[in-house]
Amino acid sequence: MDIRSCPKCEAKWIDGQHYWHTGALGDPHDLAGLVCNNHGDETCINPCKGSDSGDTWEKRAKFIETKSDDSESGITDIL
Ligand SMILES: [Zn+2]
Repeated sequence: MDIRSCPKCEAKWIDGQHYWHTGALGDPHDLAGLVCNNHGDETCINPCKGSDSGDTWEKRAKFIETKSDDSESGITDIL
């Protein structure tokens, strides 16, 4: 079994499959967008570092905005 962990974001790769440091199954593209692209340096071992095809904080912020729009219209509905 080949286990590697990133010294930067503590993500693990077990036989080529990425796991978050919590042990949850991960996506290296999400990891890149959320952690490695912003905080990674040459010590980061994420093979997808630099990828923007995964989740990013920008996308998450937009998601949260959309969500709060929903709840605002929900409040308007109640009023
Ligand atoms: Zn990393």
